[in-house]
Amino acid sequence: MKYYIKTFGCQMNERDSEKVEGILLDNNYEKVEEAEQADLIIINSCAVREKAENKLYSEIGRLRFKNKKATIVAMGCVAQINYEKLKNLADVVVGTNTIDEFYNIVKKQGISGVFIKPSMDKPDYIFPHLNRITSYIDIMYGCDNFCSYCVVPYTRGREVSRKREAIIEEIKELVDKGTKEVMLLGQNVNSYGKNFNYGFVDLLYEVNKVEGLERIRFTTSHPKDFSKDLIYAIRDLKKVCEHIHLPIQSGSNKILNLMRRKYTKEEYLEKVHIYKEIVKNGSITTDIIVGFPQETEEDFQETLNVLEEVKYDTSFSFKYSKRAFTKAKDMDGQVPEEDKMKRLNLLQDLQAKITQEKLKTYENRIVEVLIEGVSKKGNQFFGRNRQNMVVNLDFMDNIKAGDIVKVKITKAFKHSLLGKVI
Ligand code: SF4
Repeated sequence: MKYYIKTFGCQMNERDSEKVEGILLDNNYEKVEEAEQADLIIINSCAVREKAENKLYSEIGRLRFKNKKATIVAMGCVAQINYEKLKNLADVVVGTNTIDEFYNIVKKQGISGVFIKPSMDKPDYIFPHLNRITSYIDIMYGCDNFCSYCVVPYTRGREVSRKREAIIEEIKELVDKGTKEVMLLGQNVNSYGKNFNYGFVDLLYEVNKVEGLERIRFTTSHPKDFSKDLIYAIRDLKKVCEHIHLPIQSGSNKILNLMRRKYTKEEYLEKVHIYKEIVKNGSITTDIIVGFPQETEEDFQETLNVLEEVKYDTSFSFKYSKRAFTKAKDMDGQVPEEDKMKRLNLLQDLQAKITQEKLKTYENRIVEVLIEGVSKKGNQFFGRNRQNMVVNLDFMDNIKAGDIVKVKITKAFKHSLLGKVI
């Protein structure tokens, strides 16, 4: 049996797709790169924005047209919240919390059905991994924050932390199989373990002790819970990389309040300044929403001011879009589409300029790169420095994927760096 998989959305979805692939490969399925060749087509969906959700519907239609015989599985966040619509389009619908039952569900091929369980009842189940140099590790599932624009608490449920023993065991097994770097995943990693009396920083100290592991990354940090202890851990723990992803979403306190983000711009900026002070050469990235209801030109200008002040290495910016279940969808003062677009373009132009300036500062510097593989063109290695920037390198006989090498940066491009191993 052959499967084809397409993933939309965030790293949690990428990890969920990997779990599904692991289950299928363990059960003698073979992966194909063309949907036409597959017996099973899986689409892992994202519900964070309307555009991403619509992609799932059009993709099902497109793939059904290409391959009429295959069983089509819709999974992920849209599957969790919109199964009524999806059961008329896909053959099988798998919710975000039913991946452990995926194989059994899929075995019922050809039977249309809805298989959704709203709760996360097996957080310690260890799902398969594909052999990767960087492995994604779920440390918690769900979110309790209910930001007013966000559908995630409805698609992924309430916060549940996995037990640290299960996490450490999983990481040790992966390191034995060749993993060099782990990315610890959660919607808000800073609130990890709040029911255990054991926090995220404790977990970082524990993971840092795993022998053979070279690097630790994590995402996402909610600014309200981003603590000084975590900043010191980034500085003090050798394996923890000097990069934080700290979504600000807006630079206006009025909008942050409407978003229910539970921090002010000033509190956010103070944390950033402390981070920059304590973690030398630390990089910082963020998420921004433009055109949230009631956002005026002045509010938007405040967001641009934050960009200028923080100088993010990069940012992921989006136009606000109404999401089911959320408070913001019914708010007064929805911003016209053309204003959202104009603001998004302005913000992305400014960020591109800042990113370019930041990348330029790496020219002639020596950085540590973990080689992850061969570039898409097939003529170079690519990897990342500790600050999470992509670095390309010419092939050399004595290096291979998984090696950590010292590299002199020779040129900065728009989104990446070029260097030579020294
Ligand atoms: S913290 Fe807010 S934006 Fe992030 S997943 Fe939770 S509700 Fe969504």
